[in-house]
Amino acid sequence: MGVFDKLFGGSGKRESVAVESPPCPHAVLMPRWDSVEDMGNADKVTRFICEACHEEFTPEEAREFQQEGSVAERLVYQDAAEESNSN
Ligand SMILES: [Zn+2]
Repeated sequence: MGVFDKLFGGSGKRESVAVESPPCPHAVLMPRWDSVEDMGNADKVTRFICEACHEEFTPEEAREFQQEGSVAERLVYQDAAEESNSN
């Protein structure tokens, strides 16, 4: 491991690369209501909060997520389209 240690230095200095985490698919959106009276009324949801990343979305945005599915599914779909083009 001598060479390896020299190459990468024993100092532990290593570029602190930002951890590449996959984009949150916002799979679970929790509804939030401003008014307690409106709670439980799907038509009066003020905003949705992603359970995983706690990002907030408007009801319209949340609806789009539900219609289009997750980001991952969209990427897979694009890959498939490219493959069929190259044939
Ligand atoms: Zn999220």
